[in-house]
Amino acid sequence: MPELRHNVLTREWVIIATERAKRPRDFATKMKNKKPIPSYLDTCPFCPGNEKMTPPETYIVPDADGWRVRVTPNKFAAVSYEGDLHRSILGIRRTVSGVGIHEVIVETPDHSRTTALLKDDEVETVIQTYLNRFRFASADPRVGQVTLFKNHGEAAGTSLEHPHSQIIATPVITAQLRDRLINSLRHFDEFGECLFCHVLEQELKEGTRVILETEHFVSFVQFAALTPFSMLIMPRRHMACFSEIKEAEAAGLAHTLRVTLAKLYHGLNDPDFNYTIRTAPMEYAGVKYHHWYLSIIPRLTKMAGFELGSGMFINASLPEENASFLRDIAVN
Ligand SMILES: [Zn+2]
Ligand SMILES: [Zn+2]
Repeated sequence: MPELRHNVLTREWVIIATERAKRPRDFATKMKNKKPIPSYLDTCPFCPGNEKMTPPETYIVPDADGWRVRVTPNKFAAVSYEGDLHRSILGIRRTVSGVGIHEVIVETPDHSRTTALLKDDEVETVIQTYLNRFRFASADPRVGQVTLFKNHGEAAGTSLEHPHSQIIATPVITAQLRDRLINSLRHFDEFGECLFCHVLEQELKEGTRVILETEHFVSFVQFAALTPFSMLIMPRRHMACFSEIKEAEAAGLAHTLRVTLAKLYHGLNDPDFNYTIRTAPMEYAGVKYHHWYLSIIPRLTKMAGFELGSGMFINASLPEENASFLRDIAVN
């Protein structure tokens, strides 16, 4: 019989379809769809030498040959950096001017090296850049919510294969984030503990869904993973906001992220994925009830009518099997 599992972090239900569950390796991307990726493409706006194809950079980490990481405003920005925040309320109709920040973070000069193929110190530079841009965006008084994310591959919503991530800072806070803040505050009030610390402790105790444990972080498949192989990387130390991360922790996050993504890369033949940092806004830094984490969502299945219609998910794989499969993939 299938089992319905409740995700305490998102408050969503997922049907774990145990009887038609696929084996982990059935999710691997087919080799025939993969072509070798070149290190440099003259038509790529993110390759070194083509900097004129993007707006001037807002931040750069230089190195001897040019740059290690480069940040530029998105050429097709979702929100406008220029302008004031205006709110208009007409009856029940509300609008807010589309001001904010939308930047692209080019993670490496090398077109072919996705996160799984970078070195730890290169990923650490990317994380330090995330912190810099997150703090910069959060300090803008027009900004309500800052979202850091990566789209890898076409199924994840990108056509540009050069390794990059994005940051979008919007003038409003979404219902999803507000709900997470309220839900975790309610849990803290009722139980006197951080919900996320509790989840992490439980996962470490059971161990069956843990993929990787490092000094500062743990990556695991959630008990109620909404989709196959969706994973969290959670800091062991209680921190409400991503901006609270310390230097040694940034290095630890880089290593944990790189190894977790390398297991996915080698285990499932470089599947498309998104990752995003789910964090409280910076003004919530220090609160006892919220806890940030990084969420990795491999795009192995499509959302269909049932998911859209019900807000419930069907996961045709077993979180424990997926975690054990990734644990066993050897990565340096
Ligand atoms: Zn490129
Ligand atoms: Zn916590």
